[in-house]
Amino acid sequence: MKLFLTSLLAFSVLAFNTKAQKTDEQLYQLADKIAHKYILTDGHVDLPYRLKIKNFRLERQYLGIPISTEEGDFDYERAKKGGLSAPFMSIYIPSSYQQTGGAKELADSLITMVKGIAAAHPDKFGVVTTPQQADANFKKGIISFPMGMENGAPLLKLSDVAYFRQRGISYVTLTHGKDNHICDSSYDSTFTHKGLSAYGKDVVKEMNRVGIMVDVSHISDDSFYQAIELSTSPVIASHSSCRYFTPTFKRNMSDDMITLLGKKGGVIQINFGSSFLDENYRQQAEVLQGKFGKILKEKGLKFSDPAAQDLLKQFQKENPVLFADVETVANHIDHVVKLTGGTKNVGIGSDFDGVGDSLPTGLKDVSQYPNLIYVLLKRGYTEDAIADIMYRNVWRVWQKTVANAKM
Ligand SMILES: [Zn+2]
Repeated sequence: MKLFLTSLLAFSVLAFNTKAQKTDEQLYQLADKIAHKYILTDGHVDLPYRLKIKNFRLERQYLGIPISTEEGDFDYERAKKGGLSAPFMSIYIPSSYQQTGGAKELADSLITMVKGIAAAHPDKFGVVTTPQQADANFKKGIISFPMGMENGAPLLKLSDVAYFRQRGISYVTLTHGKDNHICDSSYDSTFTHKGLSAYGKDVVKEMNRVGIMVDVSHISDDSFYQAIELSTSPVIASHSSCRYFTPTFKRNMSDDMITLLGKKGGVIQINFGSSFLDENYRQQAEVLQGKFGKILKEKGLKFSDPAAQDLLKQFQKENPVLFADVETVANHIDHVVKLTGGTKNVGIGSDFDGVGDSLPTGLKDVSQYPNLIYVLLKRGYTEDAIADIMYRNVWRVWQKTVANAKM
């Protein structure tokens, strides 16, 4: 009897699998088609800073950066494969520049780098400052580079806001890891201004005036509530996830903040870093990373060794809690949809090239967005809803911001 039940069970599981597999394959094909049919924007790709710390020089582009390379999460070929057509290039200014000075110079040099890359490959990349320009590039198969400045530290005086808009900046993340002269940071516990500074309020108004989107990622809760209240255009969170899943992590947005963001027509673009996605990961990562470090030490390997990467793959298999996965990202999207009552206020803000090796299984680089679309299809999202998430929501905010500009 037991044997009979077991074989019956085995048979039905097999039958189910065969059926599911076929559907899965069709769904995956559809996901890949959708990834390429619509614009796919990503709120935050840290390519410029990755290239900067790699000592990138425009004249060295023949080395393969950033067209085709084994390094990092982004290059042209992988972006094409994944359908990524409009990644926001992060002009990232570390908080340390607030002490040392040089923030404005760094921002200028990174902007020049992005423009230089596009100028060197006009058939592949184009810098854009409006959604219409990105639409036009998409029709020609050119990957657009909108630019977002991560940290308002380079905005030394109010006229710098218009200056950086002229240079091509489309959003500014008001601060980064520490409180700055504009507002308080979620990573800081100093509460310097209890939200926005007086100057910060002027900066938000000036951003509205010149048509730069206000990015509320990284900023403290008080800063968020004050900025969203003050801004006359809807705001984005270029790379944040839901605090609901990571209760202790203030860098993510609370349910109340997401609800308000939605009411005001804004967009939260989900960050892919495992520590943004999964409390379990946050707690266990430290233990497991220590364990993996020990394995490497025993074998006399460094993390950067190719053999270490093979070991890591094996280790991941044996310790599946090490990384979040595509389903976890979809859970965050589901959660925003639940809070805001639809698919109009959520997008993608991977943080590729910015969160190191903590990326979820199945979303390890820009070639893998179709895996996420596949999971959304599996969960019943329509093509139309997926197009909202891929770009329409961000386009709506960006368009409104540009249209509201008075200069
Ligand atoms: Zn960031």
